[in-house]
Amino acid sequence: MSLPQGVSSDFCLQCRGCCVFGASTGDWCARLMVEEEIALEKSVPGFSFGGYVLTKPYHDGRLACRCLNADDHRCRVYSQRPLECRLYPFLLSSEKDKLKLYVHRACPWVQERRHAPQWLEDIAGVTRFLGLPANHFLLKAVVAAFPDYSRYGDEVELVAEIPFENNADLLWQRKAELNSWFGRREPVLSSRSFVNAIAWSDAFDFTVEEADGNLLLYARQQGIEFLYCPPLGDQISPRAVEAAFSRMQGGAARIEAVALNELTSFDSVRYRAHLQGEEYYYERARVAALSGNGYRSKRSDINAFLKKYAPVFRPFLATDRQACLDLFDRWLDNRRTSYEDDIYRAMLVENRPVHRRLMEHADALGLTGRVVEIDGVIVGYTFGYRLSDDTFCVALEVTLPELKGLPSYIFREFCADASLGSFKFINAMDDFGMPGVARAKRSWRPSHMEKVYSVCLTP
Ligand code: SF4
Ligand code: SF4
Repeated sequence: MSLPQGVSSDFCLQCRGCCVFGASTGDWCARLMVEEEIALEKSVPGFSFGGYVLTKPYHDGRLACRCLNADDHRCRVYSQRPLECRLYPFLLSSEKDKLKLYVHRACPWVQERRHAPQWLEDIAGVTRFLGLPANHFLLKAVVAAFPDYSRYGDEVELVAEIPFENNADLLWQRKAELNSWFGRREPVLSSRSFVNAIAWSDAFDFTVEEADGNLLLYARQQGIEFLYCPPLGDQISPRAVEAAFSRMQGGAARIEAVALNELTSFDSVRYRAHLQGEEYYYERARVAALSGNGYRSKRSDINAFLKKYAPVFRPFLATDRQACLDLFDRWLDNRRTSYEDDIYRAMLVENRPVHRRLMEHADALGLTGRVVEIDGVIVGYTFGYRLSDDTFCVALEVTLPELKGLPSYIFREFCADASLGSFKFINAMDDFGMPGVARAKRSWRPSHMEKVYSVCLTP
């Protein structure tokens, strides 16, 4: 079943009220979800910016979507246009993990159609489509990306609530229990934490199950299920591994984020391991002190930065969220133009909901967040969380691309932050297999690295 199209093309071509905006971002500009952005960027490079369609000047001084054909007002990517364009004048509103359907009263079709006998069927058709089980992941993405339209009062009208269960609720309900399972074994990898599971809860549906003294954390996306990390507990039980593989179906069945020292728990004939990457660890006090020749270039980077600017390094506040997300989009756009690797670029886009969710729940997750301000403008932010008594994970770090020396400054300041004083090590996650990212991470002189594997059944 496809999304029923209430308003006809002919009606819209007469009206010409859509695809032209007052601003290049914001609640009334056409928004893209992660998958749409990745797919459309492939077929129409330069189509998007910061989660919105890219715009160009329009003859009346406003901004038109780059894909709008100025001559006949037709969409050049009509068959691939984003969900938000397909839905309009219906608006999906993300309200504290609940989804509601509104209509925009300004649309002439709404003003006419609402008095027609088909109006209720129009609403029911959209609601039915969105409620289909096959659209569950679509709705997860909507929750992560769409705004709350209820704040527009009389401009919009609530017409339906969309039944939707956000899987993140299940994780929150079991937070204390899940936390008790993480960190029972060395090494402490970044994915072995409640924070990490919440961060990715817009991308995956998580399920937990106990087997032979282990806890199994499954992640499912588009019908494919895998074990997010090896069975949790004091030791990996071979029976728990068996149970996991008998539940997971198909060629994508696998256990991710397995540490090198855990591979001995897997029968080498029955299972095969593939290297996924390596996580970087630093001695926090050494980075904070920046002493010795090894950190000479970092010292000079930071000194040059401090000569030019007077940054303020301070705690993140909930009111900083939008400024930080806007900064993320500028950073993302810069990275997308600097790196040609499609997989890495897709991963960067996938990170937007991760940043958003962690900022939304920073307090409830016990995150430590810091921002850097110059002249009252946020130019960098970083967030991290406790992985174990001696290891702190730096999960997010974003800086304004044009400010040389800022990445060194923010990382060093975070490591020197009094709230991190009890941690011996900093885990800076992996390098996504990108040589440039690897160079940057190695330049901080890791104390050690941990190889991370994916384990699947031997074919
Ligand atoms: S405002 Fe309504 S009628 Fe006009 S183009 Fe947009 S959807 Fe069509
Ligand atoms: S993608 Fe097409 S429908 Fe959507 S705003 Fe651009 S021109 Fe309009």
